Amino acid sequence: MYWNLFGTCLAGRQVCYLIIGILSSFKNYFCIKKNLASIKFIGTGSGRTSLKRNHSSLLISVENYNLLVDAGDGVSKALLSLKVDYNSIDGILFSHLHPDHYTGLPSLIVQMKMNKREKDLKIFIHEGLQNIIQDFIYRSYLFPEKLKFEINFEKFVENKTVTVSDSLNFIAKQNSHLDEYPAFADKEIRQMPDSSSSFLFNVNGSNIYYSGDISSKEDIYLFSDHKLDLMISEITHIEMKDLIEAFRKLSPQKLFLTHIGEKDENSFINIKKSLTANECNRILLASDGFIINLQHKPDPNL
Ligand SMILES: [Zn+2]
Repeated sequence: MYWNLFGTCLAGRQVCYLIIGILSSFKNYFCIKKNLASIKFIGTGSGRTSLKRNHSSLLISVENYNLLVDAGDGVSKALLSLKVDYNSIDGILFSHLHPDHYTGLPSLIVQMKMNKREKDLKIFIHEGLQNIIQDFIYRSYLFPEKLKFEINFEKFVENKTVTVSDSLNFIAKQNSHLDEYPAFADKEIRQMPDSSSSFLFNVNGSNIYYSGDISSKEDIYLFSDHKLDLMISEITHIEMKDLIEAFRKLSPQKLFLTHIGEKDENSFINIKKSLTANECNRILLASDGFIINLQHKPDPNL
C-alpha cells in the first residue's frame, strides 16, 4: 500500500511537472507574443503615381495598437491589396499635407464606415494642421452624426513625446521640406499649412528615425542626439550620397529607403557599387508589403 501511495505521489508530481511545463510554455508564448512589433511598408513610391509602388505610407504594429503613418492618395486600395483590415487601424499620424501623404483620408474613413467600424479612430496631427484636416473630413460629408465611431484628434508639437500605446511613442521635429511655401501664402484668405515633420519612433524600446519628406541633408541629422537602431528615409528629395554619409556617421543597424521614384532606383543601383558588402546588407530599398520585424529591446535601466 505504501508503495502504491508512493507511486501515486510520484505520478502526481510528474503531472505537476507536466502542468508547470505547459504553463511555462504558455507564458513564453505570451511573453514572445507581447514583444512582437513590426513595421509594414504600405507604400514606398514617390509623389508620382506609379503602377509599381503605392504612395508612401507605413503601418507600425505593436501589441494592441496599429498606427498608420500617412494616408495619401489611393491608401485604401493599397491597404486592401496588402490585406490590412481597415478597422484594425487604431490611429493615423500625418507627417505633412502633400497629396501623396494625406488626401486618401476621407476615402479611408468611408471604408471604415462601410466595414461597420464602431471603435474610435485617433488622428495624430501637428497643432497647426488640425483645423485643415477637420475641415477636409467635414467637407467630404463625413459628419459625426453619420458615423458610428468617433474621430478624436491628438495634436502634437515639436520635441514633445507623444505616447501612442505602452510600447509605442514618438517625437516630432520640424524639417525643411516646406520651407519655400510661406512665400506663396495669401494671409488674408487662407492659412498656409507649412508644417512638415520628421519623427523619432520608439517601438518596443528601439529608436527608429523616420524622415518623412525632407529637403536638406541637415534634416537627416534631426535626431542625431539619440542612438538610432534603425533609419527609414525618403530618397526623392535628397542626394543618395548625403544619405549614405549620414548612415555612416549615425551607424544604425539598418537603413531602409522609401519614397522611391524610378530615377532613385537607378541611383541606388549605381551607388551600391561603392558600398562595402556589409553596407550592402544594411542599406535596403524597401518595397510595398515589406515588413521589418522588431525584437523587443530590454530597457537598460531595468
Ligand atoms: Zn511625398
